[in-house]
Amino acid sequence: MIQSFQKLGISDKILSAIGELDYEHPMPIQEKIIPLLLQEKLKDIIGLAQTGTGKTAAFGLPIIQKTDQSKNFIQYLILSPTRELCVQIADDLISYAKFSPGVKITAVFGGASMEKQIKKIKSGVQIISATPGRLLDLLNRQVVDLSKIKTLVLDEADEMLNMGFREDLESILQQTPREKNTLLFSATMPNEVLSIAKKYLKDPIEVSVGKRNAGAENINHICYMVHAKDRYLALKRIADYYPSIYGIIFCRTRQETKDVAENLMKDGYDADALHGDLSQPQRDYVMNKFRNKHLSLLVATDVAARGIDVDNLTHIINYNLPDELELYTHRSGRTGRAGRFGTSILIANLKEKNKIHQIEKSINNKFKFLPVPNGKEICEKQLFHLIDKMEKVEVDDSQIKSYLPLIFQKLEWLEREELIKKFVSVEFNRFLEYYKNSPDLNVPEQSPKTKGKKDFVSYQDDAFTRFFINLGRLDDFQPTNLIGLINDNTNVRNIRIGKIEILKSFSFFEADGEFADLIIKSLKNKKFKNRQITIELAEKKKKNQNESFGQPKKRKVREEKPRKNRNRRR
Ligand code: AMP
Repeated sequence: MIQSFQKLGISDKILSAIGELDYEHPMPIQEKIIPLLLQEKLKDIIGLAQTGTGKTAAFGLPIIQKTDQSKNFIQYLILSPTRELCVQIADDLISYAKFSPGVKITAVFGGASMEKQIKKIKSGVQIISATPGRLLDLLNRQVVDLSKIKTLVLDEADEMLNMGFREDLESILQQTPREKNTLLFSATMPNEVLSIAKKYLKDPIEVSVGKRNAGAENINHICYMVHAKDRYLALKRIADYYPSIYGIIFCRTRQETKDVAENLMKDGYDADALHGDLSQPQRDYVMNKFRNKHLSLLVATDVAARGIDVDNLTHIINYNLPDELELYTHRSGRTGRAGRFGTSILIANLKEKNKIHQIEKSINNKFKFLPVPNGKEICEKQLFHLIDKMEKVEVDDSQIKSYLPLIFQKLEWLEREELIKKFVSVEFNRFLEYYKNSPDLNVPEQSPKTKGKKDFVSYQDDAFTRFFINLGRLDDFQPTNLIGLINDNTNVRNIRIGKIEILKSFSFFEADGEFADLIIKSLKNKKFKNRQITIELAEKKKKNQNESFGQPKKRKVREEKPRKNRNRRR
């Protein structure tokens, strides 16, 4: 496992450190960059890579290895746009240097005590991770000397320029020696980044992970088309349709961020807002709640969300299109990180179609235009989620034992089925009630091709692909297990499942064909109750055998009003 890092030239001490972090194999960017940075003669590098691709270790491991521990001056400087990212980089480097005690690393960023940072720098550090503003302050106070740095890393260069750090950056760059090598990482390559690269990098080698300007490949881009007035209702539908959602909702302005978060909180969702009007302690408070998963939805402006270092987001929701379309790549790149799958959702209206096409070009990927889930679909999703949760819940016998005789006595008169219905209804009635008369929020497509059709997208039998899976009744395999397996492993919550046939030792099921590759890739070799899963495409059944598994018919219903203080799930 760790041998593949050894082959790249990583030393034993660092191998031990990354072994503790469970890094088994180098990520693609690490395979490309580590050997380049361990060479004697260093070249400048432009890395086209998003956060989550493993770039910190790509530059961090060689930097730690090459640090001259006998010298107490600054040898390496890493610049990044936000406090969060700057601290994250320093923390990562400190963990890589766990068994290299002579390597001294510190983070330098605004909004924290300058005295403490100065004291640390004066004690002698070789590696600094900094944000441009605070570093420039320290340079102006002549606390920091960059005249002997060997390597400069510009991380998230496009974000730094977007945030208006160009002048600060140039002032800093001018205080670094000519004889150094520079690494510039950026998720996108707008002209401003290219002009910085042209001015400050010498014959750079271009290293790219993924396609140029592409959103990560494991991100699923979905668009829901609604009237502008229905944005908020659509947002709630989406949040309800993905019961395990853990994501960021991007808004365009601070006011919109506050309004959306406030409404979500009033409606009983675990949400809060992150925007520029918050003080640093307030920001830290919200971020801690989000990291600890006490919030499932963080509503944020683009600026406030920069540098958020949460790796396991399931969804990004674009409540509005960003003003600058480039920002879509940044937003969506916050999910689908570190090898996971993620979904980026756009709530848009028909007027925005041109912009959507531009985004598709820039991410080199297509949106799936899906109908906003209706009440029935949401209730179905929530119900199965609840059942799944109930199946998986661990029962602590020792705790409830003493109450059980009384409970059994009280419920004695109920049949098994009645009992199940009642237990499920305790939690589920709220959803049924709320969505009882929910209207169709979809905007009918106006193109001649689809004019007159009721649904924005309708699912045909043809949309389903049939699969074989090697689990059946003998494995105690139930439909809810299948849905759970698909939801948990693909991390995409909108995959439609058709007919499920559980047989003795294997099963067949149908699922949305668009996700066929993803389903097979993410379930293959996974385990269910210690049994390794085999899954493959199966031949489709004849049409008349499938008739009952189409899209449920939509009902005409009265206008939905958001209910206040709805005591929602959990
Ligand atoms: P980064 O793009 O540097 O923010 O890294 C994204 C995440 O991937 C971080 O949580 C890293 O700790 C993790 N990571 C980096 N390299 C590896 C690796 N080779 N194996 C497993 N995880 C890694």
